Amino acid sequence: MSPFRLADRLSQLPPYLFAEIDRLKQDALRRGMDIINLGIGDPDLPTPPHIVRRLAAAAVDPKNHQYPSYEGLLAFREAAAAWYERRFGVRLHPATEVLTLIGSKEGIGHLPLAFVNPGDVVLVPSPGYPVYQAGTVLAGGTPVFLPLRESTGYLVDLQTIPVDALRRAKILFLNYPNNPTGATATLEYFAEAVAFCRERGLILCHDAAYSEIAFDGYRPPSLLAVEGAKEVAIEYHSLSKTYNMTGWRVGFAVGNAEILAGLGRIKTNVDSGVFQAIQEAGIEALTGPQDCVARHCKVYQERRDVLVEGLLAAGFKVERPKASFYVWITVPRGVSSADLTKRLLSEAGIVMTPGNGFGEHGEGYVRAALTLDVARIREAVHRIRKLQLRPAR
Ligand SMILES: *Cc1c(COP(=O)(O)O)cnc(C)c1O
Repeated sequence: MSPFRLADRLSQLPPYLFAEIDRLKQDALRRGMDIINLGIGDPDLPTPPHIVRRLAAAAVDPKNHQYPSYEGLLAFREAAAAWYERRFGVRLHPATEVLTLIGSKEGIGHLPLAFVNPGDVVLVPSPGYPVYQAGTVLAGGTPVFLPLRESTGYLVDLQTIPVDALRRAKILFLNYPNNPTGATATLEYFAEAVAFCRERGLILCHDAAYSEIAFDGYRPPSLLAVEGAKEVAIEYHSLSKTYNMTGWRVGFAVGNAEILAGLGRIKTNVDSGVFQAIQEAGIEALTGPQDCVARHCKVYQERRDVLVEGLLAAGFKVERPKASFYVWITVPRGVSSADLTKRLLSEAGIVMTPGNGFGEHGEGYVRAALTLDVARIREAVHRIRKLQLRPAR
């Protein structure tokens, strides 16, 4: 037996979502199949060139070669605050109400370490982005899953959270526009969530990674636009999806100064911040021309329409998302998420993500990401129609 026994906390994490899919994909590739991968939530388009140029210039400057400050260049936090005010009409103090992150995933994963003791509960949407659960477990906390149901528009139903979980809860995570369902929330709903958390002394964490990826003229709101939200809430933002910068690792959290200071204390102990040249490029992204964002949205919108129309014509029940780059598809009756995922892959060479990979309440759905060009999405639709799967209704 190996002397390097893994710590127990790792066995409490769910299995790696893509392991089984990877295996099936390798099989299909070996059989010479042409794979259409709609599984990955990673933009296929490049980072806009003006942002890349700014990185190139900043990278040769020796002042950027040393350790950055852990909380981020003040100039980056000022750019984030100015962007926030322009976009959402919310004013932030750059020095205390903005914290630079090595991608928002990092800040989400680390937050429970600052506020959760063993036995404390963190309220986590299901299906949901897996990091809310992972961060909770790694901090010794207990995730309690809140179902996102079609009947309530995939909004967390705050009134049905079990009272014993609420009594032990420290943090509530929300995420709109939502991964994986593509659902959106109104400012009225956010106001309800803020009031709920203020009454109970809960930390409210809103993940707004997809706030800029929206269609048909829709503009997703910021939770911090709710009066009094800053008393209990922080909001996560990322340059990853907005500017096609997933590989760069830069994002930020904004809102309640005390919560951000707690997260910052964890970060001073385990990381040393974001490469300053990348922060300079981030300033360029946030303060430079924004027409690239509208262009990206137009591309996703065309892909969305082709996929949704095609799936509807094939008899599927499917949501037409107003935002995010995900399409949430109901699996045919009598079939599981895993069954449909496997059939799509082995018979049509199409990779989608089984909904239950995002939590038990994702069973009965699969997620398609709009991160391939429209010709490939047309080809995927063509193959799906040939499969003649039984309609969902
Ligand atoms: C992609 C994603 C993120 C994080 O992205 P980073 O690259 O770490 O900034 C956060 N939340 C959700 C829901 C996402 O899908």
